[in-house]
Amino acid sequence: MTARALPCIACGRVLEAVFVSDAAVQPCDGVTFRGSPGYGSAFDETPGELEVVVCDACLDERCQRVVRVVTTHTVTARREGWDPDTLG
Ligand SMILES: [Zn+2]
Repeated sequence: MTARALPCIACGRVLEAVFVSDAAVQPCDGVTFRGSPGYGSAFDETPGELEVVVCDACLDERCQRVVRVVTTHTVTARREGWDPDTLG
């Protein structure tokens, strides 16, 4: 498969690439998903990441199955004594 052939994993429709680089492949009218299979998957031992494309129509049709993840960061700090003669 060439980098410009971006078939939707659900319907197989081939999407045109908006741009292709070593870091990202962006289809027109679709979304690229990338991730590593985790523990519990038959593909857990796969080195690197897997990448799939889903066309916007398939994503919209199945939106009930999609979860949006919003990453939040909690900042914590500890306070401790300071001795300028030691590092660490
Ligand atoms: Zn599709």
